[in-house]
Amino acid sequence: MAKYDVAIIGSGPGGYVAAIRAGELGLKTIVVEKDGFLGGTCLHVGCIPTKVLLHHAEIYENFKNAAEFGFDVTGLKVNWANTLARKDKIVKKHSKGIEFLFKKNKVEWLQGWGRYAGPGRVTVEKDGKKTDLEAANVLLVSGSEARSLPGVEPDGKIILTNREILQLPEIPKSLIVVGAGAVGVEFASIFQSFGTQVTILEMLPRVVPIEDEEISAELDKTFRKKGIQIFTESKVEAVKQDSKGVTVSFRHKDGNVQTLQAEKLLLAVGRKPMTANCGLENSKARVERDFVHVGPYMETDEKGLYAIGDIVAGLPQLAHAAMMEGITAVTHIAGKPVPPIVKTRIPNATYCEPQIGSVGLTEKQARDAGRQVKVGKFPFVGNSKATILGSHGGFIKVVSDEKYGEVLGVHIIGPLATETIAEAVTVLQLEGTVDDMMAMIHAHPTVWEAMGDAFASVRGLQINV
Ligand SMILES: Cc1cc2nc3c(=O)[nH]c(=O)nc-3n(C[C@H](O)[C@H](O)[C@H](O)COP(=O)(O)OP(=O)(O)OC[C@H]3O[C@@H](n4cnc5c(N)ncnc54)[C@H](O)[C@@H]3O)c2cc1C
Repeated sequence: MAKYDVAIIGSGPGGYVAAIRAGELGLKTIVVEKDGFLGGTCLHVGCIPTKVLLHHAEIYENFKNAAEFGFDVTGLKVNWANTLARKDKIVKKHSKGIEFLFKKNKVEWLQGWGRYAGPGRVTVEKDGKKTDLEAANVLLVSGSEARSLPGVEPDGKIILTNREILQLPEIPKSLIVVGAGAVGVEFASIFQSFGTQVTILEMLPRVVPIEDEEISAELDKTFRKKGIQIFTESKVEAVKQDSKGVTVSFRHKDGNVQTLQAEKLLLAVGRKPMTANCGLENSKARVERDFVHVGPYMETDEKGLYAIGDIVAGLPQLAHAAMMEGITAVTHIAGKPVPPIVKTRIPNATYCEPQIGSVGLTEKQARDAGRQVKVGKFPFVGNSKATILGSHGGFIKVVSDEKYGEVLGVHIIGPLATETIAEAVTVLQLEGTVDDMMAMIHAHPTVWEAMGDAFASVRGLQINV
């Protein structure tokens, strides 16, 4: 029987990054993947393909605004087939890239369904054939799949999940997006840009409900201005398919029931951890509503069994969280020092237009935690590079501790927010203060320099507004 230091079930961002780092640390490593390709949800039907489409949508928006930049553009048309082909090419390239990195770091991989089979053992099943592996440590990184609504079955043609919507042969004329989290608002943004009439239905009182309330309000305002219809506090009651597409009945908070009709419907109501049939019943791991509980180094209650990524209880379902969790686990296994994951230092990045980047506590969370809070806010309208880009909506909001100026959270909506948030993540990681950041020199003219103004605004010393 083949013997390994680490066996990893799942090759998504949690699994493949853990495998590469394990290889770098000299651990004999194998990855078990049910699909015939590497990369998981993120690379094939998540982060990467959606960001390709969002980038294409941004280019298209720029063409539509060509006159503002001094160009006369006529006959502008979307070639959807080429757009999808470029997306698929990028996905394939990066999937091959993971294979290359596995080879480079002596990581083996085996196709099949992996299952934890008790301490130090993993079984792999493919086409009725069973392979047994021995591994001192096992990482379960089996990821997640789209949740549905009670009584609603995605058929892949009219009622879609993130998988099928990435392969639509044509841009739909109308689309109802159920759920206004990151996945929902990203698809809403993509298809609105490409000319689809988009309606968002959200059960909670606001869009992007995990973000700071002011960020939600700004996105809501901007989306409505673009023509996206939004219904919050609205619960879907029935979904019926017919020859024209789909009819959705939903109930408002006030009790009124309304119906909407569209060509397609996207379910973006959260992700269910894929922990069934992975052998967790052969372990002491604590599983709650399919999520697995872990300790500071991602180890479950079963010694030598780790859980990483979208299946972990209490941590966000994000690719970069999964990556760092994987690194933390294998570094711990290699006996090297590694800090545990701190939830409040995991950034959120939502790539709709306008983009959102955030890290740390929202204003409400900070106040609810009993902190004395001082808030600063700087609008991009005062930033010259944002004006050059023709994108000066939105703002940066800094939440800090009133007494010591410690930065508790930063919330950005506007141009390049998913990049600019990097500075805020660094401040939180290094436990910096507003005053440290006010003394930092930001290059001019950049969108990033708006951070300097945002930190200074906490002290009422912003320059550009
Ligand atoms: C539309 C969409 C857009 C997203 N965009 C972003 C984004 O921009 N940024 C971001 O940070 N996050 C994004 N996410 C979330 C991100 O995709 C996930 O957080 C991330 O993929 C989780 O990584 P993972 O390794 O835990 O699981 P996954 O990526 O889901 O990978 C799990 C892997 O395990 C395999 N597997 C499952 N069970 C078994 C088994 N028993 N045996 C063998 N193999 C198995 C699966 O085939 C899969 O390859 C997005 C998600 C969606 C749906």
